[in-house]
Amino acid sequence: MTKIITLFFLLVLYFVILTPQDCISWAVSKNDEIRQSVANVTNSTLKNYQCIKCEVCVKKDKYPSFSGCPEGGNHNWKDLGTYGDNQFLCKKCSILLKSKSMPNCAGCPKGGNHEWKKL
Ligand SMILES: [Zn+2]
Ligand SMILES: [Zn+2]
Repeated sequence: MTKIITLFFLLVLYFVILTPQDCISWAVSKNDEIRQSVANVTNSTLKNYQCIKCEVCVKKDKYPSFSGCPEGGNHNWKDLGTYGDNQFLCKKCSILLKSKSMPNCAGCPKGGNHEWKKL
């Protein structure tokens, strides 16, 4: 707990020390990084993956790393289909997905199959 407080304090100190000019250039370079990574991912076929243990959802062109699930052990990823412009909401686990078509139903973290509703 004390570790977190110290970390938070250092973070605040860091931002106080930074001049506004530094802040702006930091934000701009950060933005460029984000734009580049977005450009990179849109070039490949992205898929939605969800871990049925910790319920985290990521979009990636291949299975994400299995190690380090916050619920313990390895992630248990389910391939939910291709990422796209349509939004789907699971009525059971309340996850919101951007998917090309109706996502795969198998493996809802709340048990059984996802119940997708197109938004
Ligand atoms: Zn997990
Ligand atoms: Zn679900």
